[in-house]
Amino acid sequence: MNWITKALTFGEKIKKVIKKRASKEEIASSDWTSCCKGPILKKDLEDNLWVCPSCNKHHRLNCRQRFDIVFGKSNYEILKTPIPQEDPLKWSDSKSYKDRLRSARKKTNMDCGMMVVSSNIKNVNITAIASDFDFIGGSIGSAEGEAFLYGVQHAIENDHPFVVFTSGGGMRMMESLISLSQMTRTTLAINDLKKNNLPYLVCLTDPTAGGITASYAMLGDIHLAEPGALIAFAGARVIQGTVREELPSGFQRSEYVEKTGFVDLIVERKDLREKIGTLLSILLKKNSAINSSENETSKDSRTLTKAAS
Ligand SMILES: [Zn+2]
Repeated sequence: MNWITKALTFGEKIKKVIKKRASKEEIASSDWTSCCKGPILKKDLEDNLWVCPSCNKHHRLNCRQRFDIVFGKSNYEILKTPIPQEDPLKWSDSKSYKDRLRSARKKTNMDCGMMVVSSNIKNVNITAIASDFDFIGGSIGSAEGEAFLYGVQHAIENDHPFVVFTSGGGMRMMESLISLSQMTRTTLAINDLKKNNLPYLVCLTDPTAGGITASYAMLGDIHLAEPGALIAFAGARVIQGTVREELPSGFQRSEYVEKTGFVDLIVERKDLREKIGTLLSILLKKNSAINSSENETSKDSRTLTKAAS
């Protein structure tokens, strides 16, 4: 091998090393991630509650990170939720649904995409749920529906307000109609919560879309949202293709959705705990005032009925 061939072979090797892109697993296990100014240490981002100090981007959180920030580390109990029959439709596309579930569980260390906890803020006991976008895009299947219903039931039995941190692309296509029926089931569960005069607070996080937006994410007594979160039903490209018009800037982001009335309040992550605590205290006082006046009314009407008879 002469020096020219050697140089060419060496050049090819260098090219291969430079061109080799990091795999998803390598990115996930790396100490670095990226934001507006390029690479940023995950540790630095974590110290700032996973919010970029330069552009204020609220990076996505998994359920444990979410609850650590809102309730405080080890200040919540994770509740075990029922897991219904897996893969009822024996679904397979480019990969089987069972394989997708297996890798999602391994990746997130969760049984399903939703986590239910019991905790408190400022002496207010709370039942809360959050979804993990890394679990098949935070989509809702029968297991997540069961988790939601379990959470509501727990809230009613313990007289807790119910707080939901939404995240996910919608219903899970691998469960077809079974996943769509979770929209009805979660809606009926919220009705039960409201019949029991328990506050239902929704915090919309990035991204909340599809059937999630079309069901439990939009039925709160109050809707909070983190800055810059994507909140949508259909995707922007689909809408643009349908209306054939240029969409306004910031379309479907928290700030835009707040202007159109679907979000009541945009709250920075660092203020979430304080804000949720205050709002729930106010709502609980209001509800107990309504309850006591209802009791008085029913007492009055009983006296009247007695007098009439
Ligand atoms: Zn940034």
